[in-house]
Amino acid sequence: MSRQPGTYERFMLWLRWGLVGVGAVALAWGGPDPLSLALVAGLIAYTGVLHWLYRRPAYPERAGYYVLGADLAFISALVFSGGGGPTDLYNLYYLAIVQAAVLFGWRESVLTSVTAALLYAFAVGPDGSAWLAVGLRGAFFVLVGALAGYLADAVKRERLEREASIELLEELRVAHENLRAYAEEIGRLAVTDGLTKLYNHTYFQQRLDEEVKRAERYCFPMVLLMIDIDNFKEYNDTHGHMAGNGLLKELSALLKGSVREVDIVARYGGEEFTVTLPETDGPAGLIAAERIRRQVEEHPFVGEAQLKSGRVTVSIGAAAYPTAAADRTELIERADQAMYAAKRDGRNRVVLYEELTLSAQEIPVEEDRKDPSDKRS
Ligand code: GH3
Ligand code: MG
Ligand code: MG
Repeated sequence: MSRQPGTYERFMLWLRWGLVGVGAVALAWGGPDPLSLALVAGLIAYTGVLHWLYRRPAYPERAGYYVLGADLAFISALVFSGGGGPTDLYNLYYLAIVQAAVLFGWRESVLTSVTAALLYAFAVGPDGSAWLAVGLRGAFFVLVGALAGYLADAVKRERLEREASIELLEELRVAHENLRAYAEEIGRLAVTDGLTKLYNHTYFQQRLDEEVKRAERYCFPMVLLMIDIDNFKEYNDTHGHMAGNGLLKELSALLKGSVREVDIVARYGGEEFTVTLPETDGPAGLIAAERIRRQVEEHPFVGEAQLKSGRVTVSIGAAAYPTAAADRTELIERADQAMYAAKRDGRNRVVLYEELTLSAQEIPVEEDRKDPSDKRS
């Protein structure tokens, strides 16, 4: 196990250098005796080693124990050389005890305080007059050791808990972000047709409902286009179902590109598409439909040369609200009827329901076309 020297270790290091300075001054003041000289020299060497150790990027965890042991030994030597019982140098033991609490914890700080009490008693020696004071001070070391250890452990526990809750919060934030992304993706998938990536039938019905209601409330007109590929069976028969799917995708991209942003292009089912044109009247809808028809006719689709007609075309039925229909269902029916009229008139053309010479009742409505959820694929 190794660790980085923290703020506390650095503080203790500079405190030691301070003590070295104090020791040196005291030495100069009191006249250098060989024992004090040896002590200060030893302290300088020891602090130098610590300094070197702490400047490394990491040092072994157990170095802390050696430092504690050496501190206690030095303090005891200082107390001994300072005259034992009468000197106040025993206060330095508190530094060692607090250090043990901060660096390690309760167990170590109590152990250090007990060791300090014993070493202090040895350093004072058999001085009968000082025993009571030494005993009381030793007991106080242990008390301070237990208290400092308890406090240090509490602070550490609190810091760990705070770190854990920060980590937990971060995990929660990431989980929340992921969930939001999933929800968005699911929401998108729910309204998207898998093959063509256009809006699906469900979303078309929902949006058409909204648009009809909006048109009713604000007295706007609006137009629905029903688009069906001409002779698509032939394309499938000639090139296969997979190629047919490819054509559906190609056509979908073309449809999407040929209308405004606000217009809603959807796959109604099989090879039928709808375009909802908000805030548009019949004649304007007719122009939009004619543009779509022409773009499809002019677009070079893959494999169209092999078809009898030599090209891929669409028939489009258009119906406007409120001129052709009173509600959503009726609007779909009218657009469908107009589309069938376009088929009947020879395909590759646009018919606006309102311009039909026949009345709506005379136009045959195929039974299966009445079911809007019919996919026929
Ligand atoms: P019309 O001009 O009268 O529309 O002739 P059509 O051949 O296109 O006739 P209809 O619209 O009834 O044809 C639907 C065909 O579309 C039948 C079916 O095989 C094909 N079809 C429907 N959905 C899909 C699909 O998802 N992929 C493929 N490849 N073909 C589909
Ligand atoms: Mg069809
Ligand atoms: Mg068709």
